[in-house]
Amino acid sequence: MVKQRGFDTTLIHGHLENRSTGAVVQPIVPAVAYSFESHEAAAETVAGKREGVYYGRYGNATLQSFEERVALLENGEAALGVSSGMAAISTVLLSLLQHGDHVIVTKDVYGGTYHFLKTLAPRFGITFSFVDCTDFDSIREAIQDNTKAVYIETPSNPLLTVLDVEGIAKITRQHQIPLVIDNTFMSPCLQKPLDLGADIVIHSATKYLNGHGDVVAGVIVADRERIRYMRQQVMGDLGQVLSAGDASLLLRGMKTLGLRMERHCANANAIAEFLESHPQVARVYYPGLPSHPQYETAQKQMNGMGGIVSFEVKGGLESATAFLDALKLSMISFSLGDPETLVQHPATMTHFSLPEDVRKESGITDGLIRLSAGLEDVEDIIGDLSQAFDQLDVQTTRERSEIA
Ligand code: PLP
Repeated sequence: MVKQRGFDTTLIHGHLENRSTGAVVQPIVPAVAYSFESHEAAAETVAGKREGVYYGRYGNATLQSFEERVALLENGEAALGVSSGMAAISTVLLSLLQHGDHVIVTKDVYGGTYHFLKTLAPRFGITFSFVDCTDFDSIREAIQDNTKAVYIETPSNPLLTVLDVEGIAKITRQHQIPLVIDNTFMSPCLQKPLDLGADIVIHSATKYLNGHGDVVAGVIVADRERIRYMRQQVMGDLGQVLSAGDASLLLRGMKTLGLRMERHCANANAIAEFLESHPQVARVYYPGLPSHPQYETAQKQMNGMGGIVSFEVKGGLESATAFLDALKLSMISFSLGDPETLVQHPATMTHFSLPEDVRKESGITDGLIRLSAGLEDVEDIIGDLSQAFDQLDVQTTRERSEIA
């Protein structure tokens, strides 16, 4: 029996057997079209009877290396690399659902997924229910005869709600409904949803997988037949392919995923502890804190608690925005998973498309800030947060004295 290699070795080498060119770094293959030794080989490849790349809208050789590596890391059969995380989400949903079908979606889902379901999906006759997936009975009650997928995100963006994947998978298996998980916040380093019973995994590879803030990309991992269908029947028709250049950057970025995740987690944990003890903070959301409502589930299914910390600043919108503006090191930005510490205000930035009542009901208050812990020295990040809180203090004292 071949001994299974460690996660970091797999990140760096992938399948050892794929060393045909001898190049230490995977080459960028810019070719759009590929030639075949016979007509039969070409016809069988396009029909899916033979493995292989044939036309650039359905994939390229560099992307194939990236796909093989992610499939290996997620313990899946096959993967499909696409042009963004949203391309991965739309490809999966459009491959599982058609006119008249229904999907159950965890209620605190990424803003872009919410927007897709609210605006595009209804145009194709697809209906959806947003459900509190921490409650198994709510999931069971939401299942209809035409439910064709359950879609979850764990931990969720931006409130870090942790869902019990094994528990939910038991329900979906019973009803023979595919379970789809957005694993962006964890990366395969910290959580392997297929091992926990999920059927399809999605990543915004823009985030931790690439990890350097210079590529927009997505990837889907599932069984071979599903991936083939998505590639041929959905992604190819929508034209969401990822370029060879971007695939090459992803392959490079991924080599350090294990190292980076270790540091992201350590920094996030220290930041969460600092925030939890700060008098200007009303609440901290981080799965590694014992105060987190799903702390036990997180410990059970995650290898690390991740790099994202959300927290509510006392004083609502005014305090939250003044705090963000007072930061000197951390950058106000929409993304996450980069080497730089990035902060953002979900209510007016990533989740602005949610109607106010939906936002408030799901806990995205005006004082909420999401922080993506970078790879800097943690003392510098905490020092930056601390000086921004001090400035809020000065401002409040000045305002009080003006009123008096
Ligand atoms: N899923 C999650 C959890 C995200 O945070 C994001 C983007 O922030 C996406 C999906 C969409 O990814 P992309 O921006 O690469 O399309």
